[in-house]
Amino acid sequence: MDYKINCEKLYQSLLDKKKELLTLSKQTESERGVVRLDQPAVGRLSRMDAMRAQAMAIETENRRQIFIEKIDLALIRIKQKTYGLCASCDGHIEKKRLENDPAVTICFNCATDKQ
Ligand SMILES: [Zn+2]
Repeated sequence: MDYKINCEKLYQSLLDKKKELLTLSKQTESERGVVRLDQPAVGRLSRMDAMRAQAMAIETENRRQIFIEKIDLALIRIKQKTYGLCASCDGHIEKKRLENDPAVTICFNCATDKQ
């Protein structure tokens, strides 16, 4: 496959993914808001539920932000034409590995060697 065309497609799909994550982040903003203690008709238990749900929403958002940062790094690497190439052995990084973490810079073998 043509490396350049491939990269343009990938670049676009990563941009789309980033847009999707940013939209999700905006849509769920209220879930991460402060749990109000003065909510009428909210008992002790449901307030704890609300706080638990909020903690989970914040956790999800943190992961989302980290992934957005990774996408940004991947976009830079695509521009630099180093995306998908192992920084250690110059080999190709496994597709699955890149899907899981688009900003990954070394291949599976090199990653496991270093541990
Ligand atoms: Zn390698």
